[in-house]
Amino acid sequence: MGFKDNLRKIAPYIPGEQPKDVSKVIKLNTNENPYPASAKAEEIACNLRDDKMRLYPPTDAGKLSRAIARYYGVPEKNTFVGVGSDDVLATAFIACFNSDKPILFPDVTYSFYDVWAELYKIPYKTVPLDDDFKIVKEDYLQENGGIVIANPNAPTSINLPLEDVEFIIKNNPDSVVIVDEAYVDFGGESAIPLLGKYDNLMVVQTFSKSRSMAGMRIGYAFASDAIIQAMNDVKFSINSYTMNYPAVEMGVAAIDDEEYYKATIAKIVKTREKAVKELKKRDFTVLDSKTNFLFISHKRVKALKLFADLKNRGIFVRHWDKPRIGNFLRVTVGTDAQMKKLYEALDEILAE
Ligand code: PMP
Repeated sequence: MGFKDNLRKIAPYIPGEQPKDVSKVIKLNTNENPYPASAKAEEIACNLRDDKMRLYPPTDAGKLSRAIARYYGVPEKNTFVGVGSDDVLATAFIACFNSDKPILFPDVTYSFYDVWAELYKIPYKTVPLDDDFKIVKEDYLQENGGIVIANPNAPTSINLPLEDVEFIIKNNPDSVVIVDEAYVDFGGESAIPLLGKYDNLMVVQTFSKSRSMAGMRIGYAFASDAIIQAMNDVKFSINSYTMNYPAVEMGVAAIDDEEYYKATIAKIVKTREKAVKELKKRDFTVLDSKTNFLFISHKRVKALKLFADLKNRGIFVRHWDKPRIGNFLRVTVGTDAQMKKLYEALDEILAE
């Protein structure tokens, strides 16, 4: 017996590897944006004045939540911001999932969901995707204490049509349905237009992918008054000052630079569509991606070998040693130049 018996034992989420010197590798393993953030956001970094350090920041990050709310046409009172969507989602798990019935999420999805469920002792049940890795909406008609789906899903990259998302929300009026839209800007359909219709819906998005700001840690959610109230009550029970000044100021600048945001997304989508063709030419099965990454499996060579051989050549991709997806790789869409290096490396490896 000792203090160690009282320490929390939990198998944590394992993020993708962040190499010490990023300039030495082609980093296609954590779905970051290969292009820089808006120059307008970068400018702010150099212009922060002293009182931005000395004083606590506003607890509601009001300037940022107002800018986000205005951009998406949602009332500010129905907007919540947090330290990346991981923070928003973790808060939402505590705020929204307090039933004895299990929450539901797909068997193949963002691998943080089961970690939060374990951490907060929320009962959960995974719902298998079909053989094509698609969400089957009817499977979410069973009894549950809440639902969380990533749409487009990760790591599968597949988008669930909005009418199917609505089917799940509509048929579960007694549960909060969280739709995690981390990748929606690359070709998915947001559930934001459904917010006025369903009080049990929460939509979560992030600046980490489409706005190239993973390092600033900005995420946000939209939901009904009751849900936002619960979110704030939980937040103020843990840490009132989640958003620091630079994040707020840079976030506002990024939201205001719509032109750059749209142009960056268009570039990534174009590179992605080219990548689909290049990979299929090399005998990969490529799932239909509406994200900034591709989920691929080679017809002959095992994913783990490809993962290791690419890493040896300085190209980082993601692999999970998990049921159903063990022979897949998740490859973030990089710049055209980075992708060219990927195809060259694959040609060498596949020729062996
Ligand atoms: N949801 C999904 C599906 C993700 O893949 C990620 C990125 N790991 C996140 C949420 C969290 O992103 P962030 O905290 O950077 O907003």
